[in-house]
Amino acid sequence: MFEKHLHQLEARHLVRRLRLIESEPGPVVITEGRRVILMASNDYLGLAAHPKVKAAAIAATEAFGAGSGASRLLSGTFPPHMELEAALARFKGTEAALLFGSGYLANLGLVPALIGSGGLILADRLCHASLIDGCRLSGAEFRVFRHRDVAQVRTLLARRSARRETLLVTDGLFSMDGDVAPLPELIALADRYGARVLVDDAHGTGVMGPHGRGTLEHFGVESRLPFHMGTLGKALGSSGAYVAGPDNFIRYLLNTARSFIYTTAPPPATAAASLAGLEILRSEPERRTRLWANREHLYAGLTSLGFHTTETVSPIIPVLIGDADMATRMAERLFQSGVYAPAIRPPTVPRQSSRIRVTVTSEHSHEQLESVLAAFQDAGRALGLV
Ligand SMILES: *Cc1c(COP(=O)(O)O)cnc(C)c1O
Repeated sequence: MFEKHLHQLEARHLVRRLRLIESEPGPVVITEGRRVILMASNDYLGLAAHPKVKAAAIAATEAFGAGSGASRLLSGTFPPHMELEAALARFKGTEAALLFGSGYLANLGLVPALIGSGGLILADRLCHASLIDGCRLSGAEFRVFRHRDVAQVRTLLARRSARRETLLVTDGLFSMDGDVAPLPELIALADRYGARVLVDDAHGTGVMGPHGRGTLEHFGVESRLPFHMGTLGKALGSSGAYVAGPDNFIRYLLNTARSFIYTTAPPPATAAASLAGLEILRSEPERRTRLWANREHLYAGLTSLGFHTTETVSPIIPVLIGDADMATRMAERLFQSGVYAPAIRPPTVPRQSSRIRVTVTSEHSHEQLESVLAAFQDAGRALGLV
């Protein structure tokens, strides 16, 4: 019963609540009556509040209305949807692309399109909940491997019957650890053992790779996978997700993916905003330069203060605390000094690996990052962590 479950969560101090942000999602936001430096957003390139992105959303709303009024296959397809899909296919170098309402929905539709009952899924233990739900929905046998453990994947592949359809599933860039999947090794294993690979690049899109095309570009393996999945609500500043791939696969998805068919099309404004975001990714490369410079500065600062992080290689910098209560106290102290960086606790992360998840964007100023480092130093010393 839900009351009992809720009481249990309360007893274990694991009840969550919503935090209201009463301003634009910039590097500084207003919440609970205070101005704080926001170190919690996935808007890595500051596109959510970019004037051109907002203008594109407004113009699409003026032209096509606030809501799409129907599912994509009925009367919910407007020019921004088609333009965005064409632009995503060009961006990923594929024949076609399909827009979903969110990454969650894309994964619920994509995994069952790739594998069904009788098949075998091998998934990284830390892969995103939406992938896990997609795997469950597919009806295939579902097994997890240790985080980034290529040797275990090899063993699992070698042990299975060679004729059995198999799908390897992983995030490209992991949201709670900021590390990347060993994609070249996983793809090589998949080739050798006749398996397929699904990479969810929600956090990598716009962030990783020389042009921000994602974790596959980072490793130089884009052409090795026929289909690509990523989202538009993080670095691209809007909302939604895409699957890009060969024309016949995209047509298959359009005809069969229930999470595409049985839902109202995203508003034209969000498609237009994503399209503007993609364009800015190309035309303002300095945002990515600033993002990585900020990332290096903050990472170096935190580690030289004596904090331990995960094996992050990205703008997601999780500072490991361990105990859940201690992580909460750390987050509270940071907030008191004007920095919002949330504590991430079980069940989102394994026990005793509670952390402060810090994300940095291209829009943080040097001064703001210095304030964040000073706040970490004060809080860490007060709690005896450094
Ligand atoms: C955020 C995220 C999703 C969900 O995407 P939404 O568009 O927010 O629904 C899926 N997969 C991964 C790896 C994510 O980080």
